[in-house]
Amino acid sequence: MQCRCGLLLQHGDLSVLSFHATKVFNTFEGGAVVCQTTAMKLKLDAFKNFGLASETLASQPGINAKMSEFNAAVRLLQLKQIDQLIERRRHVAGEYLRRLGRIEDLDLTIGSLPQMKKSNYSYFPILISEKSAISRDQVIESLKTDGIFARRYFFPLTHQFEAIASWCKKQYDLPHAKRIAGRILCLPIYPDLSTSDVERVVQSLIRALAKR
Ligand SMILES: *Cc1c(COP(=O)(O)O)cnc(C)c1O
Repeated sequence: MQCRCGLLLQHGDLSVLSFHATKVFNTFEGGAVVCQTTAMKLKLDAFKNFGLASETLASQPGINAKMSEFNAAVRLLQLKQIDQLIERRRHVAGEYLRRLGRIEDLDLTIGSLPQMKKSNYSYFPILISEKSAISRDQVIESLKTDGIFARRYFFPLTHQFEAIASWCKKQYDLPHAKRIAGRILCLPIYPDLSTSDVERVVQSLIRALAKR
């Protein structure tokens, strides 16, 4: 069957979705590939099922990449409440923005880009200013001592991983991505994060930024 999908999933020949547990919409583990043609769909079906085109014919190399019924069931349940979950995340993001807007040494633009008309608030990214006396990694360590685990999404940049860099024929510089990757940190965000916990994260961040 040919896939019918929205514009967002029509990049190139294949669009890949992750349903990993860290995503807003997840199946614990798993994902999907959206394709544009029946021929490609048949190829993908075989690829995820040991390369088998039928019970007796292996038409190509393949792997075992089938999604289990259990994972699919998790997703069906989540589908029922995804709008409320995103709305709760939006609320948490608003609570952060309200409190962090007044703090120097932080750049919040990346998490509130005006062109992002629609967001699922999967991350709450902030940038530690170049003027800050404390580095991004020191902020992360300081938060950790308060039991708060911020993440550096996305760092290192994909093209900086040694295995990937060695496959690339071309050298990339990407100065803007590099600058952001060195300053970004993502604060905890999830639907059930309470306002008092948001406050606790913000206070811990303020203490971190005040360190010299
Ligand atoms: C989640 C994510 C991945 C990893 O997806 P998996 O389903 O774990 O393979 C890769 N890149 C980006 C940008 C992601 O958000």
